[in-house]
Amino acid sequence: MTKRILVTGGAGFLGSHLCRHLVEAGHHVLCLDNFSTGTKANVEPLLANARFALKCQDVTDPLEAGVDEIYNLACPASPLSYQRDPIMTTKTSVLGAIAMLELAKRQRARIFQASTSEIYGDPAASPQSETYWGNVNPIGVRACYNEAKRCAETLVFDYWRQHGLRIKIARIFNTYGPNMRADDGRVVSNFIVQALRGEAITVYGDGRQTRSFCYVDDMISGFVRLMDSGDPITGPVNLGNPEQITVLDLAKRIIDMTGSRSRIVHVALPGDDPKQRQPDIAMAAALLDWRPSISLSEGLGRTIAHLDGELRAAGV
Ligand code: NAD
Ligand code: UDP
Repeated sequence: MTKRILVTGGAGFLGSHLCRHLVEAGHHVLCLDNFSTGTKANVEPLLANARFALKCQDVTDPLEAGVDEIYNLACPASPLSYQRDPIMTTKTSVLGAIAMLELAKRQRARIFQASTSEIYGDPAASPQSETYWGNVNPIGVRACYNEAKRCAETLVFDYWRQHGLRIKIARIFNTYGPNMRADDGRVVSNFIVQALRGEAITVYGDGRQTRSFCYVDDMISGFVRLMDSGDPITGPVNLGNPEQITVLDLAKRIIDMTGSRSRIVHVALPGDDPKQRQPDIAMAAALLDWRPSISLSEGLGRTIAHLDGELRAAGV
């Protein structure tokens, strides 16, 4: 069945892949974005398609649109971006969620909220399962993002309890791939760009902190499976790749794969940087029959090729 689908943050990294997937599946897609961290270039190939429309607007501003489904992704995701204007980040996450929940209520639309592994804070438990309530500093530099995302989850559940909305919450773990901006500031793009340019690889702290990286195609299939699942499935559901690696080993892997002469330098660890992060994806496997299929080596290879092409095209 053809659906009318709103994707907020659709010109960003994940949003642009989601829009492409939904248009290719035959749906009508309205992409709403204020281009604060996303780019028109990310959705350029879709602009000629009659089933795709792009609207430059803030997610917190009033919107009326006939929609069957809403994927609410609008929010800066890189620590560099979300800490640049932290008050704006909180407003985007909280007021944006309210605006989209109200639209879903008026339209009787199903709503998907892009939540995050950050809601677990600096987790004392590993791997993190959905039953873990987290370890979050409410006044730290990451709070504008993780506390605001926690509040958005609260709002989504209260609209479900109070108004019977059909809701889906995905807790997204670190995801990477093409369409991440070269200057986005997240670790995978930083290390690849530094390695390709022969610049020093900036490992924050001793590099023993861990992350688990999911390739974007796997993540998008998880989004759609969750959205398409039956109403009793609300989430929150963890989506991520359980393959865990230290940041230092990631740097070494990228140096090897690019054949770079870059050396590793250690710089100061930013505030409240989580020491470990690894998803327990048993719930996604059981409820959605979803698990990632692309290994870190394969995904990094594709991402390196993409960023290499971009840097060459830009002549840098
Ligand atoms: P991104 O920064 O590439 O994309 C975010 C998009 O939202 C951008 O296009 C940006 O311009 C837009 N946006 C920001 N504020 C807006 C506003 N006020 N109004 C309208 N548009 C606005 O980041 P991403 O990695 O694609 O993340 C997308 C979503 O997924 C975010 O909600 C993020 O919190 C969540 N997430 C991502 C990851 C990841 O590893 N990529 C992990 C956890 C959660
Ligand atoms: N990191 C790093 N060097 C960089 C960018 C990030 O060592 O140039 C580290 C960062 O301190 C964190 C991990 O890599 O421990 C992941 O950072 P990212 O900003 O990608 O996302 P996070 O998971 O922290 O939100």
